[in-house]
Amino acid sequence: MESSNWINGEWIVPTAGEMVVHSPSDVKQEVGVIHLSSVKDVLEAGRAARNALSVWASMIPSGRGDILFKAAALLEEQADDVARLASMEMGKPISEMKGEVIRGVNLLKYYAAEGVRAVGDVIPASQDKVLQYTKRAPLGVVGIITPWNFPVAIPIWKIAPALICGNTVVWKPAEVASLSATRVTRVFAEAGLPAGVLNLVVGQGSLVGNALIEQVDLDGISFTGSTKTGMHVASIAAKRNIKYQTEMGGKNAAVILDDADLTVTVPAVLSGAFRSAGQKCTATSRIIVEKSIEGAFRDKLRDELAKIYVGSALDPKSYLGPVASQAQYETVCSYVDLAHKEAQVAAEGELQVDPQRGYYVAPLVVEGVDAQHRLVQEEIFGPVAVLLEAHDFEEALSQCNDTVYGLSASVFTRDIRRGMRFLDETQAGMVRINLESAGVEYQAPFGGMKSSSSHSREQGQAALDFYSQTKTCAVYFG
Ligand code: NAD
Repeated sequence: MESSNWINGEWIVPTAGEMVVHSPSDVKQEVGVIHLSSVKDVLEAGRAARNALSVWASMIPSGRGDILFKAAALLEEQADDVARLASMEMGKPISEMKGEVIRGVNLLKYYAAEGVRAVGDVIPASQDKVLQYTKRAPLGVVGIITPWNFPVAIPIWKIAPALICGNTVVWKPAEVASLSATRVTRVFAEAGLPAGVLNLVVGQGSLVGNALIEQVDLDGISFTGSTKTGMHVASIAAKRNIKYQTEMGGKNAAVILDDADLTVTVPAVLSGAFRSAGQKCTATSRIIVEKSIEGAFRDKLRDELAKIYVGSALDPKSYLGPVASQAQYETVCSYVDLAHKEAQVAAEGELQVDPQRGYYVAPLVVEGVDAQHRLVQEEIFGPVAVLLEAHDFEEALSQCNDTVYGLSASVFTRDIRRGMRFLDETQAGMVRINLESAGVEYQAPFGGMKSSSSHSREQGQAALDFYSQTKTCAVYFG
């Protein structure tokens, strides 16, 4: 498989450089070649999107929806193939990756159906014989920048609502997910999207991504990735007065109260912390446990962690696979080294695969560090979580909020009163009782508080608010 740009309806192989992609599950295995773009390529994509805008924006919305329904059907047909490529490229276990592709199918269907839903309100006017109503207008050309950790679902949860609202798109995927991005774009191409409506530009963030946000004639930018890059994107968008949204990092907590049902809690904590090798923005990376239940919780966590299977992404038994790339591996290993130096091991899993084969990191829970330690405050984005002790509910709540991030948080308890207080008082966009921190549903709004987000929301109906602007119309017919 080779990556390719899709600009103005043409598959074009850019020539600014190339990178061979090796599977993170088995670094000797070549998955494909990525061809990198230049600034010229992204500017051309911007022009194609601008030229395609008026026809796409004025197309009957159900017609736009029909193309998205077609894309959903094609993606469903090709789900195994798309999932296999994405698993091989970025290391997410195949069972989870298939679920992600099916989520992409559901997102396409959900937004396709918006083509026949209401787009405004009728509001009484203060003058007789005046009809006053609102309608949605597209933003125009939208730049979409995506990370590698959900190589199928995140791009689709941005592209599908952007398209149904009548926008045209220039998409710059993460380098580490460029083959998957080419494959997903093929689905849109086969679905019959007109030339220039969606344009894919594969390349480096610092060059092509930066040129997209700084130089392309854009009306909106949707970004998901690290907080550092997101703040940069936001500052440029604010200077250009372009509507933007940034969904960024997290340091999510699972709070375990003394009355928690450990048979529900421990599997949910392990899944939140270690599925996708901890590389979810909503992954559990702090486990805050009320002191009186700490011993019982740790014992059960150790027992259950010992049963977790860490193997190749294509092995259907794998609970978690490798981390996604060499750069990820080096970063995560630096935190594992720090943990072994400055913390104590509370529980550690084992690899069922030769560690030399790929970028494998054994799942690790550490304890014995104070609340301001780097392991507690910095996003690790790997299979490493830190266990913290709280004397009571109030301390657990305050520890949960003691972070610059605010993406997701869970509490485990049988006490509905403390559970409901947790939902009210936690500074996070996604808050849950007796459910893992990493759960997300495409039909519900998704996003963070504090440094995790620009305070906008994605998915569900919230995405339509971002990808459109409201026009208030008035008609005098007297
Ligand atoms: P990243 O910030 O390194 O890269 C994200 C995207 O930005 C990539 O496409 C990259 O090429 C591009 N980019 C890099 N520099 C750029 C620049 N100067 N201008 C424009 N674009 C640029 O993040 P990543 O490593 O790909 O992803 C991991 C991060 O994403 C984690 O912090 C994770 O928490 C976050 N994330 C957040 C969410 C969410 O919804 N909140 C979801 C998934 C991942």
